[in-house]
Amino acid sequence: MKWYDNAIIYQIYPKSFQDSNGDGIGDLPGIIQRLDYIEQLGVNTIWLNPIFVSPQVDNGYDVSNYFAIDPSLGTIDDFEDLLKEAHRRNIYIILDLPINHTSDQHPWFRDAVTNKNSIFKDYYIWKKQVNGHEPNNWGSFFGGSVWSKVHSDSDYYYFHLFDKKMPDLNWKNVEVQNSMADIAKFWIQKGVDGFRLDAFIHMAKADLGQMALSNSEKYPVDDTFFANLPELKKYLGGFVSQIKKENSDIFLLGEAASANAYQAAEYTQPEENGCDMVVSSDNFGEVYDDDNFGDVPKFFRPRKLSLNRFKNTFVKWESVLANTSFPALTWGNHDISRFVDRLNLPTDDNKLKKSLAVMMFLQRGIPIIYYGEELGQHGLKYEKLEDFDDQRAVDLIQNLRAKDIPDEQILELLNDQDEMTARGPFQWDDSQFVGFSNAQPWNWAEHSEENAQQEQSDPNSVLNFYEKLLRLKSTDCFTLGNYRLLKTDDNLFVFERRTSNDYGLVVVNISNKSIDYPLPVKFDCRIALSNQDIKLTNGQIHLDPWGCCALVNDGRID
Ligand code: BGC
Repeated sequence: MKWYDNAIIYQIYPKSFQDSNGDGIGDLPGIIQRLDYIEQLGVNTIWLNPIFVSPQVDNGYDVSNYFAIDPSLGTIDDFEDLLKEAHRRNIYIILDLPINHTSDQHPWFRDAVTNKNSIFKDYYIWKKQVNGHEPNNWGSFFGGSVWSKVHSDSDYYYFHLFDKKMPDLNWKNVEVQNSMADIAKFWIQKGVDGFRLDAFIHMAKADLGQMALSNSEKYPVDDTFFANLPELKKYLGGFVSQIKKENSDIFLLGEAASANAYQAAEYTQPEENGCDMVVSSDNFGEVYDDDNFGDVPKFFRPRKLSLNRFKNTFVKWESVLANTSFPALTWGNHDISRFVDRLNLPTDDNKLKKSLAVMMFLQRGIPIIYYGEELGQHGLKYEKLEDFDDQRAVDLIQNLRAKDIPDEQILELLNDQDEMTARGPFQWDDSQFVGFSNAQPWNWAEHSEENAQQEQSDPNSVLNFYEKLLRLKSTDCFTLGNYRLLKTDDNLFVFERRTSNDYGLVVVNISNKSIDYPLPVKFDCRIALSNQDIKLTNGQIHLDPWGCCALVNDGRID
């Protein structure tokens, strides 16, 4: 068994967690100040979004120096202190490692474009223009073409799946594989416990002369050509084998945004030098009803929680990965709005927030909790459309205005869906800048009332419930037990967890009606957790609207 088999991960967006030096930007010393809070929450692993030196075109995912900490976040000494203080509390640290691309300010790219004989030219992907145009019509995730030129009079384009200031690395080149492994080894020697491998599914690309077949868009974004291609496993294997040789306990969490459960199983085959777990957006993509979205691009579409889709998605992930790896259990991350805004929930009642946490995290898998989620914190609400300045949002505003959609409606849509609303300061208290900083935070707008100080003193708060839930999650039954979803009424989500010694039953009512549920087991169970007053009578439980409970038998059962 590896340490990460019972990991409970807390994702921290370092710029937004705690500012210690009054510049409005969160930093590493700020995180150190808050480690007691994190320990008390009951998580044992922290994933930090990228902390390396970066021009911050994409909030740290554009790295210009992988061997140092971005000065806005602190120093290497601060990082070493953070590691020491976290480890002292038995908390592991995972770094986010962008491996698919660098910043255009990275010395490799600078040398490649300024030095005719650069050995780094082949670190990136270049292609000659065709009839004065880009070599193909593939669209970038961040809008426009995947191709840009360094100088307008050059014959050559370079490839970038994300921003044009983030050129893709050429993973066909073994030197790239070795150089990235060296970077990982440097941080392993510092003592980190794992990495999130950012956007790793894009390392292999199809034939660059292949055109995407869409007549409606000039630059269609089509994963077919740059996600989950077969060569990927070879590149990943070369890189991972070097990491595991350095330290076999390093946890590799691959970010596989568009991977399905079968691909996730492929990437996590034990003994194959792949990832230990992958996190996909498939669960985000599939758990909502997504009809009637009209012309709004997928990324911004309003989504409504659908319990049936949730069941179908998780029964598939759980079944496909059962003998391979743990599914990632998560309601959100920094790339999407907070789930309490995004899911169009029928109520903002804390009871429902608690039930959603129970039904997600007590399943078989590793929870990843997005900072602030444990408070039930909502996203920021921007005041005007001009506050949204990323290209995708700007394009959307332009398109919807052209269709005469009123500005207020566009603003509401963006406030519910845009990722920047989810990257606001952690709400520590009710002071002017929510205890995050004494200066105006770098990302700031109207915010909801939830805060840690108030919730710590309220026994019924979402925070207190998360603490109890995570303690239950860390027991063998809910960490290692098998998973079986039971067929029930459409409004109920019920599953069992079993080890050879323990039995757990989770019953969640996702409806505004009370439900009586006859227990499917004959033996005695105790109520380990519930978000309501609950009694077991005659082998039956009565669940209030949005009620949930976890029942446990800790003795031998047959
Ligand atoms: C990260 C994004 C980032 C992108 C490019 C993603 O998958 O989660 O925040 O923009 O990779 O690095």
